[in-house]
Order: sequence, then structure tokens, then C-alpha cells
Amino acid sequence: MRFSENSDQAASFVRQAIPKMVKHNIVPNPLNFTLWYSYYSNAFPTLNAELDHAISRYGTCSQQVSESLFLQHISQLDDSSEQELQKFQKAFSQTMNTLSTSLDETAKQTNDHSSALKVNIDTLGNYDLGEQLAPVLDDLNANANAICDANDQFQGQLSMAKAEIDALKEELQKSRLEANTDQLTGLYNRRAFEAIYTEFKDTESEEEDLALIIMDIDKFKLFNDTHGHLLGDKILKFVAELLKNECPDSIMPVRFGGEEFAILCPNLSLDKAHTIAENIRKVLASKCFKLNKTGEKIPPVTASFGVAAQQVGEDLSNFIERADQALYKAKDGGRNMVMLAA
Ligand code: GH3
Ligand code: MG
Ligand code: MG
Repeated sequence: MRFSENSDQAASFVRQAIPKMVKHNIVPNPLNFTLWYSYYSNAFPTLNAELDHAISRYGTCSQQVSESLFLQHISQLDDSSEQELQKFQKAFSQTMNTLSTSLDETAKQTNDHSSALKVNIDTLGNYDLGEQLAPVLDDLNANANAICDANDQFQGQLSMAKAEIDALKEELQKSRLEANTDQLTGLYNRRAFEAIYTEFKDTESEEEDLALIIMDIDKFKLFNDTHGHLLGDKILKFVAELLKNECPDSIMPVRFGGEEFAILCPNLSLDKAHTIAENIRKVLASKCFKLNKTGEKIPPVTASFGVAAQQVGEDLSNFIERADQALYKAKDGGRNMVMLAA
């Protein structure tokens, strides 16, 4: 990972980046912060060389050059795979968090130093410094005031940058959530399913139980054809709520696609997952729906289920495949049933 530092290291990079940016007149916006943070963390060595070059040649780095360096080095990763991108987003968001806190701390420190400097100068003013030192004190006073003014200005820019960073963080979180959520039902989607699986595998030992339930609504095409797609959508939403209610808190149901759902059950045996699936099947099959307009009752919607327990050394696609085959058996067996994988 590019940004793997702990928060102390990260804070130290920020403390180095800020004076450097002030010195070279670089606007403290989130993009520039990221560039100069990356510079001190040495996350992209070729970026450092280009920033050094710009500073030595022009004494600063223009916004245009900064943006192109950002695009070239930071937002374009060598491995553009989804996983790498997710890791980057996570690291970026952590960096943003650290920046936010560090900005507050840095602002407080600079304020304290400025106030202390003013007090020192005032104290000196109380002494008779003689003709030689009096002009020096005047100069000192003027310089100190200039520093305080520049500081105030920079603080203003920092607060604006902080607000931008906070907005960016929120934006990032929102887009991550949207990317992992199914719009119709609000359940997690297949992409999130893979992330949940990977996280489980990364944190638990190989022997830990992992079961998978795959559920598919029966004859749903016929349901849509008979009652319309809109009512079909309502059924999908109802099923999603039912899954949320019937699954223990640690289990996140997922809309796998269409009228198919998957429930990954960390630390559960085949038997326990079987019980969960059987419960969902019964609750769904006993629910009566009425048409809003006519009040006419319609037969319950049913679903078929395949349940599998992951075997030692088995990869995800094989695991899903076995649960799927069990689901086909449930369909072949007459639907509205739960079958266990071989
Ligand atoms: P089976 O019991 O064998 O699963 O039969 P089925 O009709 O459920 O299976 P099939 O794969 O033939 O049809 C799936 C149907 O699911 C067709 C499609 O219109 C419907 N469907 C998929 N996604 C949605 C959706 O978002 N909204 C609605 N209303 N229907 C959907
Ligand atoms: Mg179906
Ligand atoms: Mg299907």
C-alpha cells in the first residue's frame, strides 16, 4: 500500500509539508496537500523528483503543474484493478483524516507562537534600549507584525482548505457507499459481497467456518408478467427487508443480481446456515400479499435456496458454484425448498 504510515508519521509529514508550501507560495488546497504529503511520505519517488525540479527552477509549483503531477502520479495507479483502487481510496481517506486533525493542531501551535512573540516584543519595549537598539526593535516589531499578518492569511486559507477536505471526505464516503449498495433494495451488492469475503479471509484463520446461502425467487418472471414490474420491485424490496430482519447482525445479505440474493455467514456451520435459510423460506412462503387497488389476495411468493460450507483450500468461485448447484437441485426438486451442497 502506498500510504501505510501510522498517524504519528502521517502528522510529521503534514508538519513538514505545511512550511514547505508556505515557503514556496503554494495554495493550501486538498490537491496540493496531497501532493506535498506524498512528497514527504516518499510514496511516489518519481513525483518527488518532478516537484524538486519545479521548485528549483521556478521557486514554486504552479497550480497547473500541480494538477498534472497529481493526475500523472497519484490518481493513475500502475495496477488499475478495482482492489488497488479501493486500497488507494481507503488510504486517501485516512490521509484526509490525519490532515484535518493536523491542520487544527498546526493552527493552534502557530497562533501560540505568534502571541508569545508579540508579548516578547512588548516586554522589550518597556526597557530603554538606547539609540542603537531602538531601530532594531522597530524592525523586529515590523517583521513580527508582517509574520502575524501572513500567518493570519495562511490560517484563513487553511480553514478553507480544511472545509474542502471535509467535503471531499464526505464525498468519498458517499461514493464508496453508493458503489457498494444496490439502488433498489438498499442491500449491499456483489462488489461489496466480494469485499466482505476478502475481509473475512484476511482476518480469520483458514479453518474458521464459512457458509454461504444463495437464494433465488421462484417463477419471478411469471410474477412480473402477471402483476407488473412495479409490484415485482416491491416484492424485491420486501424480500430485502425480510433478509435484514431474519439474518443475525453479523451477517450481511447481498443482492447478487436480479432476483437472486446471497448470504455469507461468517463463523457459521452448514447446519446453522441451513436453519437460517429454512427460516427465511418459511417466513416468505407464509406471507400473503394483497393488491392495493382491488384488495385481491395473491398467492405467496416463494424462493429456493442452496447452502454450502466452504471446504479447506476452496476458492470463492468454486464455493459459489457448489452453493449454486444446490440451488438448482432445489429448483429441480419443485422449488420453495432448501438444499445442501454436496
Ligand atoms: P426460476 O424459479 O427458475 O428462478 O424462474 P424465474 O422466472 O424466477 O427465473 P428467470 O431467470 O426466468 O427470470 C428472472 C426474472 O426476474 C426475470 C426478470 O424480469 C426478473 N427480475 C430481475 N431483476 C428484476 C428487478 O429488478 N425488478 C423486477 N420487477 N423483476 C426483476
Ligand atoms: Mg428465479
Ligand atoms: Mg435467477
